Amino acid sequence: MFKKILIANRGEIALRVIRACREMGIASVAVYSDADAKAPHVREADEAMHIGAPPSAESYLRGDKIIEVAKQVGAEAIHPGYGFLSEREWFARAVRDAGLVFIGPPAEAIAAMGSKTSARQLAVKAGVPVVPGTTEALTDANEARAIADQFGYPVLLKAAAGGGGKGMRVVREPGEMEAALDTARREAKNAFGDDAVYVEKYIVGPRHVEIQVLGDQHGTMLSLNERECSVQRRHQKMIEEAPSVAVTPEIRRAMGETAVRAAQAAGYYNAGTCEFLLDVDGKFYFLEMNTRIQVEHPVTELVTGIDLVQWQIRVAAGEKLPFKQADIVPRGWAIECRITSEDPANGFLPSTGRISYLHLPSGPGVRWDGGIEVGSEVGLFYDPMLAKLIVHAPTREAAVERMHRALLELTIEGVESSRDFHLRVMEDAEFRAGAIEIQWLERRLESLLQVKPPADTTRTAAVVAALIADRDRQAPKRAATSTSSAPQSDAWTRAGRLEALR
Ligand code: ADP
Repeated sequence: MFKKILIANRGEIALRVIRACREMGIASVAVYSDADAKAPHVREADEAMHIGAPPSAESYLRGDKIIEVAKQVGAEAIHPGYGFLSEREWFARAVRDAGLVFIGPPAEAIAAMGSKTSARQLAVKAGVPVVPGTTEALTDANEARAIADQFGYPVLLKAAAGGGGKGMRVVREPGEMEAALDTARREAKNAFGDDAVYVEKYIVGPRHVEIQVLGDQHGTMLSLNERECSVQRRHQKMIEEAPSVAVTPEIRRAMGETAVRAAQAAGYYNAGTCEFLLDVDGKFYFLEMNTRIQVEHPVTELVTGIDLVQWQIRVAAGEKLPFKQADIVPRGWAIECRITSEDPANGFLPSTGRISYLHLPSGPGVRWDGGIEVGSEVGLFYDPMLAKLIVHAPTREAAVERMHRALLELTIEGVESSRDFHLRVMEDAEFRAGAIEIQWLERRLESLLQVKPPADTTRTAAVVAALIADRDRQAPKRAATSTSSAPQSDAWTRAGRLEALR
């Protein structure tokens, strides 16, 4: 086993890897930019190395510098986390060429799954069902129209190099094709420096269901079952759960086998995720493979009892997986809410500031994977995700109640956060019934956000409100909280109480 690992990341995922290292008796090395000099991951790691200025391009994306630092401190392996360098083929290769171990798949597998078109070609060859469409870049609108005619409108134009929902355009009729293709190409060129765009059928009302796979370097590749990530805003996931209400044992088996086949076709090992769309008829289509640990990995950890980050490290060190497919027996239900520094009441505008007060939820079945503490400066240099709140319970219903309870316990002051938005979702009848698909949130958002906080709540007011909430928390509850009525101590209610005190 490795003695020392460098973590080429920041925030909650850096802390997640540090925790895995500590439990395994491995020394951890953090890296940090000027903006993160006082960040929790810097303090929690056994060693920390400064790598540059706040913009990622001058720090967390400096692969050359990070490899140099790893050699300097005597680390044997590098964990890339997610984002930043995690899916850069050149980085995985450079780490290997430097005589270090990249904790992730081989560079060749990253390359094979790197573009959506190459992943589609590989999937088709391996007999994996993909959304009907092309596997090559389009030459012009005539070609796009001819292909679209074969499977009918609406169709979706997608950037081959795409990610984060960029370079995607829905085309509802042939007349829209020309303009949509131009826009998609321009957007793709700007975002990825590559204007290759292809076309696929636009699936109406599907769920986003993905399969976690885990493989070793000795030929074992397992499916750790599904996660559902249908609560999305602008193609970005906000809430994830495992298992999925829409997945039957038959679909689970078929999807799992398909994901394993796709991973094997790419020569994959370590942890990875195959993303699928599941349509209303139970048919599923491969979208792409994410060749890294994912933000939402904890829900799989909680239902399978398998520590994915520790196994990433063990597999990278050459260990064999000691379990078989039949040993993967999921238990209960897990839900994750992404707590971001965005203001739901204000169009999810990113919010910046200093965390002045933080009260974390705890108690049965609650897990907090966070990267903030009191005093943390939340700026605009990095992703707005502050933390992930994850719960585990025997049933979905109990998990939703538990998440609601945990969100009520959570208080973040100093920046706006998505907490109240998540509370509203947990109270929503459709969400509670599992009646969700990828367009559900966009449809529901406005009514979810209808309850607005008073306009003049100020920063000082928020801190006083936090103190009131704290006092309430210590006082015995008068009645059991029912999530069908208004929550008793969410921020908006607290702001109302404060108004009454004035
Ligand atoms: P990106 O890499 O940009 O995130 P994906 O291919 O993963 O792009 O798609 C992102 C999201 O867009 C999916 O989770 C789904 O919500 C939606 N989507 C993608 N392809 C289709 C499709 N063919 N039909 C309908 N929705 C789609």
